Amino acid sequence: MITTYHRPQTLTETLTLLTNLNVRPLGGGTLLSRPQADSVEVVDLQSLGLDFINKKGNDLELGATVTLQQFLESELCPEALKTAIKLEAPINIRNSATVAGTLVSCDGRSPFGTALLALDAKLEFKSINKLELANMEVESREPKHDVNIIGIGEFLPMRSDHLKRKLITSIIIPLNTKFTFEFVSRTPADKPIICAALNQWNSGRTRLALGGYGTSPILAMDGTESEGVEAAAKNAYHEASDEWASAEYRMDVSAVLAKRCIESIS
Ligand SMILES: Cc1cc2nc3c(=O)[nH]c(=O)nc-3n(C[C@H](O)[C@H](O)[C@H](O)COP(=O)(O)OP(=O)(O)OC[C@H]3O[C@@H](n4cnc5c(N)ncnc54)[C@H](O)[C@@H]3O)c2cc1C
Repeated sequence: MITTYHRPQTLTETLTLLTNLNVRPLGGGTLLSRPQADSVEVVDLQSLGLDFINKKGNDLELGATVTLQQFLESELCPEALKTAIKLEAPINIRNSATVAGTLVSCDGRSPFGTALLALDAKLEFKSINKLELANMEVESREPKHDVNIIGIGEFLPMRSDHLKRKLITSIIIPLNTKFTFEFVSRTPADKPIICAALNQWNSGRTRLALGGYGTSPILAMDGTESEGVEAAAKNAYHEASDEWASAEYRMDVSAVLAKRCIESIS
């Protein structure tokens, strides 16, 4: 249950509140405001102006509080990524859920997380350390924010470690690449049992991510070319059994999806 609610108007105020480990950022609140036994103190991000979508050279910069629906409706959103976003959640949730909140809370079935892993998205984090806060009070000046950029491949498996006292402020994805997304699900609107996202850079670098299983999407391949992508997909899922599908099924189908991805960008 949310017991304390803050709605700061500035990033400095927000980061100062987050120096307290009991305070958690509130994005769209679709997860945080669900009934839970623990008491939660939240800092609402909606007044910080982090809902921007900017093209910066060959990159797209998404503010942390951009909602999934806002991104889906943006003309800057790559077409194949739109498919992944639609599968992530129904429209009512997409209208509230933010891109950062989704990456923090997604599991291995997340099409959006899988897509951003293939795109090698970079996450920008900001924080203020306690020493800087103390100095700022003594010197009566604005504190400096610490800025870190972490690749999503590093972030996803160790989310809680990266998030201590930190705020995701933006997410950066490349635009000048060939990106494709394939999936198999029980019905066309269900979360996939298996999905494959593949991104190829002009240099030939090819990155394949798989979703549909486990606690986090997985990186099956990041190579200098597309050679071996089907074998990589098959290998990545050799233990991926659960109530939805056996590992054998996932191994076979992920190889087929990887092949389709390559064909669709050729
Ligand atoms: C009916 C319903 C069904 C759902 N089904 C699923 C499901 O099947 N699978 C699933 O994975 N989720 C599910 N969810 C959860 C939820 O919809 C998604 O995880 C959602 O994308 C979370 O985004 P949010 O912005 O609402 O996050 P919030 O609820 O605001 O926050 C989620 C987490 O992210 C953190 N966070 C948010 N923004 C930031 C930031 N900028 N920096 C650092 N940390 C941040 C929060 O502190 C919190 O820990 C469901 C929710 C509802 C209401």
